[in-house]
Amino acid sequence: MELEYDHLEILPDLQNLQTLSGIGINPSSDKGRRMLDKLPKIGEILAQSVAPRGIIKKISTEEAFAVFSFAKEENADDAPLAQILMQGIQGINGINDTYLFALFAFTLGEKISEIIERLMNEKEWVDGYLLDALASLTVERAVNYTEKLCTEKLVNTTNPRPDITINYSPGYCGWHIRSQEALFEQLQPEKIGIKLAARPSYLMHPLKSTSGILISAPPATHLLVTGGHSFCIHCKSRSCVNRRAIITPSGR
Ligand code: SF4
Repeated sequence: MELEYDHLEILPDLQNLQTLSGIGINPSSDKGRRMLDKLPKIGEILAQSVAPRGIIKKISTEEAFAVFSFAKEENADDAPLAQILMQGIQGINGINDTYLFALFAFTLGEKISEIIERLMNEKEWVDGYLLDALASLTVERAVNYTEKLCTEKLVNTTNPRPDITINYSPGYCGWHIRSQEALFEQLQPEKIGIKLAARPSYLMHPLKSTSGILISAPPATHLLVTGGHSFCIHCKSRSCVNRRAIITPSGR
């Protein structure tokens, strides 16, 4: 199923302090103020250049397990997704009521990456940096919006559990990036213009694209232990911290 994206839902609010910190702007420094001056123009370029497209496909627990296990030997033994999938198969407290699994892919399109590349080639470093950072933030926001759309469109509304939908992507949290091959085979994101490079990079083209598996499950299922896994030592994103803040605002 192809999804529709409202620009207003996914473009970052340039007045928001969280946005500024997310793209590395400190408004109280001289450098930060110089970047702030450029932001309206860069935001305009972003708004005019993105062509958001996304797809989603509901899959069975077994299919989800097959995509995850495609790179079985390379996945970390303590990858949290393995446990979540096992819970999904076994049900909760013995109740045979599985979680919802869906594959997804999203892209901002070709043009935005071309403009970033051109700015860099022309040595417009600050403009290029700001546009790149804002585009990445837009992809993150689009993933959050996709989680919302997945809940609205696919989750069984009669399910009495307070499930929430969160994404997991190959290449993160102990899930080897080679599973992109299986994900692409099942989902076929080529339909919305996303191509996958061969190993070892498995880069997606256009660059501002993402893919993964959406899992709708009880909130506690998604609480990963920051730094508590064998693979965390290589992690720069620490995205589980933000995730925890959303799931349990008290931080516990
Ligand atoms: S620190 Fe968090 S986001 Fe990073 S790999 Fe570990 S669990 Fe995943």
